[in-house]
Amino acid sequence: MEKQQPLDVLVIGAGSGGYIASIRAGQLGLKVACVEANPYADPKGEPRPGGTCLNVGCIPSKALLSSSEEFENIQKHAHAHGIRVSGASMDVPAMIARKDAIVTKMAQGIEYLFRKNKVAYLKGRATILGRAEGGFRVSISRSGSIEEVTARNLVIATGSLPRQLPGIEVDNVDVCDNAGALDLRSVPGRMAIIGAGVIGLELGSVWRRLGAQVTVIEALPQLLPMCDADVAREMLKLLMAQGMDFHFGARVTGLERASDGSLSLAYVEAQGTAHSVACDKLVVAVGRVPTTSGLGLETLGVKTTQRGFVDVDAQCRTSVDGVYAIGDVVRGPMLAHKAEDEGVMVMECIAGQAGHVNYDAIPSIIYTSPEVAWVGRTEQELKDAGIAYRTGKFPFTANGRALGNGDTSGFVKVLADQKTDAVLGVHIISTHASEMIGEATMAIEFKASAEDIGRISHAHPTLYEAIREASLAAGTGALNL
Ligand code: FAD
Ligand code: NAD
Repeated sequence: MEKQQPLDVLVIGAGSGGYIASIRAGQLGLKVACVEANPYADPKGEPRPGGTCLNVGCIPSKALLSSSEEFENIQKHAHAHGIRVSGASMDVPAMIARKDAIVTKMAQGIEYLFRKNKVAYLKGRATILGRAEGGFRVSISRSGSIEEVTARNLVIATGSLPRQLPGIEVDNVDVCDNAGALDLRSVPGRMAIIGAGVIGLELGSVWRRLGAQVTVIEALPQLLPMCDADVAREMLKLLMAQGMDFHFGARVTGLERASDGSLSLAYVEAQGTAHSVACDKLVVAVGRVPTTSGLGLETLGVKTTQRGFVDVDAQCRTSVDGVYAIGDVVRGPMLAHKAEDEGVMVMECIAGQAGHVNYDAIPSIIYTSPEVAWVGRTEQELKDAGIAYRTGKFPFTANGRALGNGDTSGFVKVLADQKTDAVLGVHIISTHASEMIGEATMAIEFKASAEDIGRISHAHPTLYEAIREASLAAGTGALNL
């Protein structure tokens, strides 16, 4: 990169949003650089691209979910297929090494894609210094050396960090956030988790499947308030049946460490009764906060919200012309694909095209077993908005493929507009809900009606036939129920 020539765009952060934005910029012929300060260094000690999702989020958690599910299937479900297995054991360091190898491979893939798309990858911490002729000045510091770059546009893609709880210090040895909980070297006997959100349920599932007794302490009175209430109720039943212990409406009051190294987490239940839970490892998973500190947003006057997010419009423009922000650092769900979609959108806008994200059609998935996936509105949201709707529901107990697979848990629920029959929301609990939600997302994006889905040929026997059946159930009636 020639230092004197201003860039068309500097992307700050090489996470899901930033690295995809940078590749799209390269494809569009923009002169682009992407800067990354990732503390999760690669084996050579270099800041590694990929952000939270690749290094300590989506990818490593799904690798461990997959390993632990294999183990649980062998231990608990293989016998139903007539397979006799004895003496199966888990080599946790080997599982962790497999996860690390996947992360390393994908990080190398991003660096390859940067080279292929002429994205200059700058390693260091970016701080906005102010305006320059025709753009912005940014310093990039690393191990004492400072480089300065100038860019006509900035894309803030600095992501988020785990929210801390006062009095509970994360050391990522005994008291872990997501990073530590993805890197344990043995299965703890007892694991307590603060927060029954997505991370709590996914990582709790990993360690429960491997043998930990998992207790979850949740401040709210119910599980997964963002999900359709039917789904949340059913998931609580299923997770409890798997052996996860939940305490809702609980306020954490302190953490003590005994001389034998074990921990005691104190909490007060809604009725005011004080309790404690003893554990060997504690995971704090109480949400994430946007990363903006030390970035120098104030030097440009970029507005942030009360909760610390960068304030943006529907096309991720900030209050300052030429400065955009995407991903976890702005409003909306903290999801990798939402960050990616916003990255593509802003680069197309910078290149003079009509970038767009349909925020009504962003799928969400919880990778528990069974999985939970949804897109569009929940029944509660439709009621609150006064929208008249019809409901179609189809259980996997009536689906031949689910029976063959040996897991009939869950259902598909389709919500369709009472008047127009447009699909407004689809909610799935099932082993492969994460793959099936694609059809529902496409339906909402293309403004399909429930009848459209009902008339589309669905291969038999498949799990996704349940989406067709639930769509039919929202209209003239399911065929197989
Ligand atoms: P990030 O990925 O956080 O990237 C931001 C990057 O900016 C970081 O690498 C950071 O080091 C860098 N940075 C910050 N400040 C500076 C600076 N001043 N200079 C240079 N670099 C800087 N989402 C899903 O969709 N599916 C999942 O299955 C999923 N699983 C998850 C599991 C876990 C355990 C966690 C924690 C998250 C998960 N997420 C998942 C959420 C997903 O990881 C985030 O939504 C996504 O990473 C957001 O992307 P981003 O680019 O906005 O930010
Ligand atoms: P979350 O918002 O999903 O859940 C946090 C939970 O902690 C909530 O239920 C909240 O009520 C509870 N909580 C907050 N303060 C508490 C307290 N003091 N005591 C007890 N409970 C408390 O957040 P998360 O699980 O930390 O995940 C962070 C983000 O990462 C999520 O927003 C999610 O979008 C993203 N993520 C996504 C996936 C996925 O897409 N599969 C997986 C993991 C994480």
